[in-house]
Amino acid sequence: MKTLKIAIQKSGRLNEKSVELLKNCGLSFENYKSSLISTVSNFPLEILFLRDDDIPEYVQDGIADLGIVGENVINETEVDVAYLQMLGFGKCSLKLAVPNNGQIQSLSDLSGKAIATSYPNILKKFLAKNNVAADIRTISGSVEIAPGLGLSDAICDLVSTGGTLKSNGLIPFGDVMHSQAVLIGRKGDEQNPLIVELLQRVQSVLRAKE
Ligand code: ATP
Ligand code: ZN
Repeated sequence: MKTLKIAIQKSGRLNEKSVELLKNCGLSFENYKSSLISTVSNFPLEILFLRDDDIPEYVQDGIADLGIVGENVINETEVDVAYLQMLGFGKCSLKLAVPNNGQIQSLSDLSGKAIATSYPNILKKFLAKNNVAADIRTISGSVEIAPGLGLSDAICDLVSTGGTLKSNGLIPFGDVMHSQAVLIGRKGDEQNPLIVELLQRVQSVLRAKE
């Protein structure tokens, strides 16, 4: 049977938990920081270590069979993939936030204002659904400093504890989406026996944690 490939984040917030999950599934592999690919010795599986942003497309396009990535990244890349299992880690929310000295109190106050984000597609849909016509400024990182620099009136960014917002003088005032890590696969592949076997192992690891 064809060896499976699973794409996980190379480094960052999801890396450690993704590696831990695969190890808890009984998979043996070397986890060197320098390697981009690692072969599992006791299961027909290769692990690809990638930037999280690339994972949904790799799975959609069949370069990887499976992936572990945040729902926020899946929604932003607007791919069509199968959600095989919610994983319960990497929990965070995409939130709107405004400077704590400002006049913006409600969603409608954002009309005509500039919002900085790294999630323009998700934000665009959210604003359209709520009938808010705001100007989206896409920046790739350090979104929290945008209002202070005069780049935007508000931000839309990922938050877990809220500490980063607070230390930048911002207050959250609305949830755009909740997110957690998900195991994804390609649509139509759900019957592949290797995927079925791996999914069962993942589910029993998650059950044991309950
Ligand atoms: P990469 O180098 O792979 O592109 P990144 O910098 O885009 O990494 P990380 O900051 O490592 O990404 O976050 C990875 C994922 O962790 C996020 O997409 C999100 O799903 C989740 N996450 C959980 N909590 C947070 C948080 N407080 N801030 C950002 N992401 C979070
Ligand atoms: Zn990323």
